Amino acid sequence: MMKQSVALLGLGTMGAGMAANLLKAGISLTVYNRSRAKAEIFAAQGARVAETPADAVKGAGVILSMLADDAASRAVWLAENGGLAGAANGSVLVECSTVSPFWIAELAKAAEARNLQLLDAPVTGSRMQAAGGQLSFLVGGSEEALAIARPVLETMSKEIVHLGPVGSGVTMKLLNNFLCGVQAASLAEGIAWLERSGLDRDKAIDLLKRGAPGSPLLANLSARMTSRDYTVNFYLKLMSKDLQYAGEAAAASGVELTTAANARRLFEQAAAEGYGDQDMSAVVEPLRTKSQK
Ligand code: NAP
Repeated sequence: MMKQSVALLGLGTMGAGMAANLLKAGISLTVYNRSRAKAEIFAAQGARVAETPADAVKGAGVILSMLADDAASRAVWLAENGGLAGAANGSVLVECSTVSPFWIAELAKAAEARNLQLLDAPVTGSRMQAAGGQLSFLVGGSEEALAIARPVLETMSKEIVHLGPVGSGVTMKLLNNFLCGVQAASLAEGIAWLERSGLDRDKAIDLLKRGAPGSPLLANLSARMTSRDYTVNFYLKLMSKDLQYAGEAAAASGVELTTAANARRLFEQAAAEGYGDQDMSAVVEPLRTKSQK
């Protein structure tokens, strides 16, 4: 059993799978979630359930967070009873959420003021990969901090890629999700068009999957869009957030992501029509029902 005790803040779609794998590896784990019910599930599996982030991180050598966005991360780390207030000297903070590089820079500064090290380590892979311990961690931060966190991250992942200093992980993740979001949005438009075109839908999708546009994302999302299976792997509202953060991060490098802005418009439209808490593949729905003329 690993000696290092671990805290995990945030038990949504991804955090729940991560917690299960940490417990499976025999790690001494404390969990915190804003809505306590999602944390209670893990008490039966041996986790300690904490009332506040500050309480959760007491004595933990590695503190992981897996939260929705910048606002959630700020609330969990910096509130009066937040994770930073309770973190023990020498512990390593690992922010696994997809957040902005601007927020990561601010959090790293706050951690440094307390003599703590921060890694940004967002993930690729979705609900199934989190549950199966098959995530890829995209890491920014020091070698030294990663050496401490690595054995913990290994229990949840198939690979750990160290990309550079703090902020590199989230920048890579936003670049990744920019390309995913744009492809998902264009696929939604393509399917809406295809369904009105008179073409045989299944034959057309089979050709696309096997042709140059084919990708794991196209294969997965086209099946969900055509079967209207919007059970959540990735909340639609989170893709809208990722495209926003990607646009802002690229703009800070002097690059305008026009395609991200257009894709985000479709996700925002779907969220406004009530699909925000469904899977991101539901982005196709408003396009099905409306004439775009
Ligand atoms: P999720 O299911 O929506 O979970 C979000 C978590 O954040 C929950 O624990 C939620 O608490 C908490 N939270 C939200 N707002 C909060 C606030 N203001 N204060 C405190 N806690 C707050 O999201 P997820 O799918 O697990 O994703 C987590 C992160 O990983 C996101 O940044 C996402 O972009 C990224 N990601 C997701 C996937 C995916 O396929 N799902 C893949 C890669 C990366 P409650 O339970 O109380 O609401």
